[in-house]
Amino acid sequence: MIELINVKKGPSLEDYELHPSCSLMVSDLRKEASMFMPLLKGRKIWMINSTARGGGVAEMLPRQISLFRQLGLKIDWLVMSTEKKEFFILTKRIHNLIHGVGKGYFSTIDKNLYESVSKENVQYLLKYIRPKDIVVIHDPQPMAMGAFLKQKIDVTLIWRCHIGNDEKSKKTDACWKFLKPYADFYDYGVFSFYDYIPEYFKKNSRIIYPAIDPYSHKNRELHLHKITGILSNAKIVRLKKDVLTAPFNESVKRLQPDGSFGACYKPENIGVLFRPILLQVSRWDKLKGFLPLMKAFIHLKAQGVIQEKISKNQKRRLELLRLVLAGPDPISIQDDPEALEVIKEISSFYCSQNSELQKDIAVLLLPMTSEKENALVVNALQKSSSIVVQNSLKEGFGLTVTEAMWKGIPVIGSNARGIRHQIRNHIDGIIIDNPEDTQLLASAISDLLADPMQRKIYARNTQNHVIQEFLIFGQLKKWLRVLSTESIRRNT
Ligand code: UDP
Repeated sequence: MIELINVKKGPSLEDYELHPSCSLMVSDLRKEASMFMPLLKGRKIWMINSTARGGGVAEMLPRQISLFRQLGLKIDWLVMSTEKKEFFILTKRIHNLIHGVGKGYFSTIDKNLYESVSKENVQYLLKYIRPKDIVVIHDPQPMAMGAFLKQKIDVTLIWRCHIGNDEKSKKTDACWKFLKPYADFYDYGVFSFYDYIPEYFKKNSRIIYPAIDPYSHKNRELHLHKITGILSNAKIVRLKKDVLTAPFNESVKRLQPDGSFGACYKPENIGVLFRPILLQVSRWDKLKGFLPLMKAFIHLKAQGVIQEKISKNQKRRLELLRLVLAGPDPISIQDDPEALEVIKEISSFYCSQNSELQKDIAVLLLPMTSEKENALVVNALQKSSSIVVQNSLKEGFGLTVTEAMWKGIPVIGSNARGIRHQIRNHIDGIIIDNPEDTQLLASAISDLLADPMQRKIYARNTQNHVIQEFLIFGQLKKWLRVLSTESIRRNT
């Protein structure tokens, strides 16, 4: 089945233009649009993926579509679906294999399933799509469907791949081989990094980085009273006075010394808003490096007590420092056994620590039932942190890094592909060569904490870097060029 998704307008280009950090980028986008829009006249753009909710693609598409419409482009969003659950099990396998994980083999049954669902959906697509339209297919799920569509009508076909792996293996090769017959029908590929491009797409590909929307709930500016209100509504901080709005429907839960999850103020108030906070927000995934970060923090606390030569201020900072590890509440991710496993691992390590460390480490489960509340809590937590860490063993891009950088929070990241691309070492923050080297990570945290001036410089640089490279306006400029390429070719 194919569903046409209704996209709300949301903030206008004029609204963004009023933002001091965005106005130049928006006027640049307008200039670019005035050059490229005539080439796209009469051509309709279709964005096609396999979900309208959840995940980065579904989060970004409405904003991109609304802004493109405001620039005068004809653009709509279609979502493919099927009742055959096996189809999405297969496409999840493809997704994992691109990351080098899973069984690197596809049977004839797999191929038949992928093709039959894709062919079924093409007939519905034909109700919407006309010759000369530009069709952008997102990720592997609808990839074969795009190829079958191209065999029926003359459209420009673009594949936007949001995932990738900079390490090649027999598994990744097997996956790209499976996708090749469909990829052959595409005019262009769009990838996040050059080293994510499979060989057969190399000649016909463009690079577009993921980007953030500065007015989204996760990234919009929050006044101090708003941050305080959100943290209080989510029950992360306990205030003696009332705040303006009522508590959220669901509160954030904190890991307790007995392994259960309870109130955030137990075993002691976390100290967000008052103490220096070291934060990592991520999905509960082994590859996010939560455990080595916890070990580094414990190492740092022990070292701080032993060291004699540190300044009085630094000693106090290290005493007060608290680690917050936050991720989605597993109630909302019951189908993700890996997340539960990771929480269990973190939990048993936490429970084995002494009571002082248990007060100093807060493992938080953020409710996911309201996307808006979740986004606001992430925003407020990032904003109240002294340092944001992203200690991933592997990372496709790492939007949590972009989000912290946009907010001017100094960052420490691992050398994973997506992270080292965003954090310029010793310009925006610090890159750790090995996320599992807990001593190295502990020293980086300690050095950054000891140097408020350096933190200020990093904070300024990170914001500038995000404005230049990772905001939605720059991304749309690149998209305009990609979308126009085929028009230029057709007209010459
Ligand atoms: N995130 C969230 N709530 C959580 C944990 C993560 O909203 O409890 C968000 C986070 O702010 C970021 C996204 O999930 O926007 C994660 O994207 P990233 O690229 O960092 O990693 P991925 O999850 O795609 O591997």
